[in-house]
Amino acid sequence: MKLVSYWQDTATPPGDFRHTPVPEEVDVAVIGAGLTGLSAALELARGGARVAVLDSQHVGWGASNRNAGMATTGLAIGFGQAISRYGRQQAVEYYLEYDKAISTVETLVREHSIDCDFSRCGKLSLALTPRDVAGMRRTQRAVAGIGDLPDLQVLGPNDIRKEIGSDFYHGGMVDPLGAGLHVGKFVSGLASAAVAAGATICENAPVVSLERDGKRHVVQTSRGPVLAADVLVATSGYTSSLTPWLQRRVIPVGSFIICTEPLDADLAAELLPHDRVASDAKMLTYYFRRTPDNRMLFGGRARFALSSPDSDLRSAQILRKAMTEIFPQLSDTRIDYTWGGLVDISRDQMVHVGERDGVHYSLGYSGHGVQMATHSGQQVARKLLGARSDLPFENVEFRAVPGHFGPPWFLPVIGAGAHAVDKWNLLRGGKP
Ligand SMILES: Cc1cc2nc3c(=O)[nH]c(=O)nc-3n(C[C@H](O)[C@H](O)[C@H](O)COP(=O)(O)OP(=O)(O)OC[C@H]3O[C@@H](n4cnc5c(N)ncnc54)[C@H](O)[C@@H]3O)c2cc1C
Repeated sequence: MKLVSYWQDTATPPGDFRHTPVPEEVDVAVIGAGLTGLSAALELARGGARVAVLDSQHVGWGASNRNAGMATTGLAIGFGQAISRYGRQQAVEYYLEYDKAISTVETLVREHSIDCDFSRCGKLSLALTPRDVAGMRRTQRAVAGIGDLPDLQVLGPNDIRKEIGSDFYHGGMVDPLGAGLHVGKFVSGLASAAVAAGATICENAPVVSLERDGKRHVVQTSRGPVLAADVLVATSGYTSSLTPWLQRRVIPVGSFIICTEPLDADLAAELLPHDRVASDAKMLTYYFRRTPDNRMLFGGRARFALSSPDSDLRSAQILRKAMTEIFPQLSDTRIDYTWGGLVDISRDQMVHVGERDGVHYSLGYSGHGVQMATHSGQQVARKLLGARSDLPFENVEFRAVPGHFGPPWFLPVIGAGAHAVDKWNLLRGGKP
């Protein structure tokens, strides 16, 4: 079993930027070479700006090459919760932004001919209890008639077998706009497009300090300083004490994935007949999909721990057990890959985009960054180029997480709480 992301292992790297000299001066220094940073760099370079993307490791090393490759509509919080927090009009605006974000990914794929298996396969949300199905019907009614969005389709116990080869779930909901992609190939394609447009990528270049020098920023890397008119922090769940104000606002939570050997085509079609990307309704959600070569990719917050080789292996055991409970057909199937990464959860699970002490940031995607990091990076870049930002998230208050000053010591407590909530929901939801 390989302890590396399947996406990273099966994509061609965009180049070797470990020795690319760090430029002396740029218009914008972007910290982080994931989807946010690369999408921003591409847009900035196309707009004529001199831009350097600086990463401690390599392109896609963070969550961007470690996720499940699902680009889905809907916020990280439920639509009903968004309405009660922000009012219907604002909630609708936020909701629609996720739809726009998937279109941003689709447009980039098309414009730059990125061969990454992008497909509007639809998102399948899975219900464990009758109560979950009732909640899905409420969402269906609340979302009906928003913009030009197609209707969501809710399935009860009699229909769910049309969508999944498992008796584990009580029902579900299909959103036809959800998409899947080979995210490793997408990341590589974005990086290549950014370089072709004139951006400089420097790998192996951790930023160790950020200081102001008059109107400019001195971005000190381990390979030398860069003077930059603007700085964009795109460090997501890997945000550190380099930006302590941001670090206090983002909780890095480990999420883990296993990926099987390629499945026989008939078995793959039996498990997920419409090849949709799927996740269930628990707080500690399981998410799964077929890869383009018909492996089962199965993930979840198996343990509330940070990712490490030991943690990833222990999570793999938990995930394998969960996967075979849902799909007993996979009991004898070999696991070829396991890996983990950090999800950047903000206190309100909303995206946060803004500026602090002259430094721009975009993060807090809370598990929905494949589309939103790509979109938000592009929008922030447009703003830096002098255009008006269309992102509706800029006014959302970005509150610190109480007691969070460094490593998230409280993760086991949150994990235990989430387990308890899931158990309680199963009990009161009337799990059949
Ligand atoms: C297991 C897992 C599954 C997920 N599944 C999904 C999914 O299916 N759908 C979805 O929408 N989202 C998913 N996500 C979330 C999504 O992957 C992220 O929201 C998104 O990739 C964030 O991209 P980013 O570019 O902002 O940050 P990242 O890709 O995390 O990149 C941050 C980069 O910053 C660099 N960095 C940090 N500090 C410094 C420094 N001081 N100097 C230089 N560089 C630095 C890091 O090296 C890293 O490369 C998942 C995440 C995980 C971990």
